Amino acid sequence: LYNMVQDLKGNIRVYCRIRPAFKHEEENVIDFIGQDGCLVVVDPRKPEKDGKKMFQFNRIFSPTATQDEVFRDTQPLVRSVMDGYNVCIFAYGQTGSGKTHTMSGSAKELGISYLALNDLFEMSDKRKDVTKYEIQVQLVEIYNEQVRDLLAEDSGATKYPFHIVYFGFLTINTLEIRSCVSDNNLALPDATLCPVKSTVDIINLMKLGEQNRAVGSTAVNIQSSRSHSVLSVHVQGEDVSGSILRSCLHLVDLAGSERIDKSEVTGDGLREAQHINKSLSCLVDVMTALAQKNSHIPYRNSKLTLLLQNSLGGNAKTLMFAHVGPEGDSFGETMSTLKFAQRVSTV
Ligand code: ADP
Ligand code: MG
Repeated sequence: LYNMVQDLKGNIRVYCRIRPAFKHEEENVIDFIGQDGCLVVVDPRKPEKDGKKMFQFNRIFSPTATQDEVFRDTQPLVRSVMDGYNVCIFAYGQTGSGKTHTMSGSAKELGISYLALNDLFEMSDKRKDVTKYEIQVQLVEIYNEQVRDLLAEDSGATKYPFHIVYFGFLTINTLEIRSCVSDNNLALPDATLCPVKSTVDIINLMKLGEQNRAVGSTAVNIQSSRSHSVLSVHVQGEDVSGSILRSCLHLVDLAGSERIDKSEVTGDGLREAQHINKSLSCLVDVMTALAQKNSHIPYRNSKLTLLLQNSLGGNAKTLMFAHVGPEGDSFGETMSTLKFAQRVSTV
């Protein structure tokens, strides 16, 4: 049906998106020269000689690329969910590089999550005579290797059979991941599952998610950039013959990838940094093991990979957006993001 996407099966696509400059100072800006999927990065401190590094990605979005342009190249992947494929879309990059802009965007410039769901609604309407679709979402965040429901109406109460842990004075409900997914395809059986029919539904749920996230943040000093957020869209289709198809689209806004100088942080900050580094490297380990067709895939090494287990590898399709900013002072982080993305794309 979607031949273009069919070709991507099993491969990991990597798109690179360059954020517009915050400041308008000509000097101290990293030069990105894009040509035919190639990106040449010029070190602002030594632009002449060894300052040039080349990277290749499936697609490169310049600072002027619009949300619609970005979505257009993502749409085939999104649509394949309607045909029963599991899909994961990740946003990677240091804090401030544009991950949330790509995934959620703003009311004026809606990001992939909204555009994707909108597209799924339209598709399901178009196909309604042949297949009856039901779309439900879950929204969780993973912080310090604990999974938290962001759609619980009453996030402070023990409404669900969660395990209770104590973070200082605050009680947070953490969810258990079902590692062996049963026939309903839910890795998080206890996370709130909300049926959605329109963009308005999504906007309301995302608002609730933000509120719940904020509650946790101020109380236990969680910064959203230190946690992964995962929006899981569960699609179920039943055709006229009664056969049922289930699939899932995961939209993942990863924690900031910036390396934290271990000598500078202690306590909570260090613990966060270690968890983030660990889960991001676990993600690459899993992708690498899948690419090498290893018999053992280390899904269990992090909550993120365990949660996405069913949507990484096999018939699943994966897309990673690597985000970079043009500021010269983030040259080091930009290079490390591009190197990471390059590693992933060769998987
Ligand atoms: P991150 O989630 O990676 O920390 P954000 O998405 O919050 O970064 O982006 C940081 C700021 O830059 C935000 O104010 C965002 O609106 C803006 N921004 C990021 N990418 C773009 C873009 N492509 N076009 C316009 N503004 C952007
Ligand atoms: Mg963000």
